[in-house]
This record gives sequence, C-alpha cells and structure tokens, in this order.
Amino acid sequence: MKLILLGPPGAGKGTQSQLISEKCGIPQLSTGDMLRAAVKAGSPVGLKAKAIMAAGGLVPDDVVVGIIAERIAEPDCKKGFILDGFPRTLPQAASLDQLLKSKGLHLDTVIELKVDDTILASRIEKRASETLAAGGTVRADDNADALKTRLMAYYRETSPLTGYYFAHGLLKAVDGMAPIADVTRQIDDVLGLIRAG
Ligand code: AMP
Repeated sequence: MKLILLGPPGAGKGTQSQLISEKCGIPQLSTGDMLRAAVKAGSPVGLKAKAIMAAGGLVPDDVVVGIIAERIAEPDCKKGFILDGFPRTLPQAASLDQLLKSKGLHLDTVIELKVDDTILASRIEKRASETLAAGGTVRADDNADALKTRLMAYYRETSPLTGYYFAHGLLKAVDGMAPIADVTRQIDDVLGLIRAG
C-alpha cells in the first residue's frame, strides 16, 4: 500500500503515519525527519537545508525528491510506504508520479487531514511545551515566526495538491480535528475500503 498523508503543519500527519506504519508494517517516510537527521549529521543536504528549515521555508524540490527517490529504492519499501510531508509542491507531486511510474508502481490513496487554521498554532505550541516537559529539544521551527512562514508555504505551495489528487481520483478527506483515536478510526475506514477495493 502506498499512501500520502497531506495536511498543514500540526495536523497530526506524523502521529497518524506512525500508527498506520505499526498497523500495516510499512515504513513512514517523513522528509522532515530525514532532513532533520541530515542537519544533525552535518551532511551536504543538511547544510543546504538547515537555515531554510529553521525559518520555516521549503527546501528545494530537487533535494527532497532526491532523498525520497533513494529512500523508496530501499528493500523495506517493497511492501509499500506512507509519505508524511512529501510531496509539498506540485513539481514534487509530478516527480513522484514519474518516479513511481518508472518502477511500475502507483499511489493507492491520499489522505487529507483537514484542520482549521485557527487551531494549528495552539497545537504546535502544545507540541513544543510537551517536548520541553519531557526533557526533549524543541524543533527549531516550532516557534511563532517560523510557523507563520510554514503556514504560508502550506497555503501557497502545498494546498493545490488537494485539487491535483482529487483530479486523479485519489483524495480522501478526514476530519483532523477529532480526537486522535477518532482520526485513526476514520483513516482505518478509508484504508479498509482500499483493501476491499
Ligand atoms: P515537517 O517535519 O514535515 O513539518 O517538515 C519540517 C521542515 O522540513 C519543513 O518546514 C521544510 O522546511 C522541510 N521539508 C520537509 N519536507 C519537505 C518537502 N517535501 N519539501 C520541502 N521542504 C520540506
């Protein structure tokens, strides 16, 4: 099964992707996690991405497409994967289509987590304070200024993807404002339909 989880920052893509990953035994491919690891390692990709990410901007398409192309080629992706945070632009979506087509693969579904803009800032603040309380390190982009830029990038670059995937007959919207377990149930329903179909 090959899925995309789509939604604004703070919509719960990471949480739900992880749950699907555990349930279905397929890896969660988070470009955000991969880029943060690259920044931490000080790799060439990390050096390119560090300042852009801290400011809340989008890393260039060729960089993230390269990361995903390499990752999808790994053996654990044979059974499928969940894309979390990729694609984020129309050119990334087109590159993904090409990449999958070249391997004789196709996407099964795109799940959109729908969340009101007004609650995103408070969700991200909550994530930062919970991380601090647990003794962790708060993400460099979990602050008010970077969040504004991340939301702008989402509405300008990423939100057109809902139309793109709707036109491809792949989009399934889910209420991302429900409690986590309810969101999970809605996703299970969507995935059940796919398995049945
Ligand atoms: P995330 O963990 O998905 O919120 O991503 C954190 C940051 O990583 C984003 O704000 C971007 O700077 C960068 N990033 C992650 N995925 C992508 C992508 N597909 N395209 C461009 N930038 C990305």
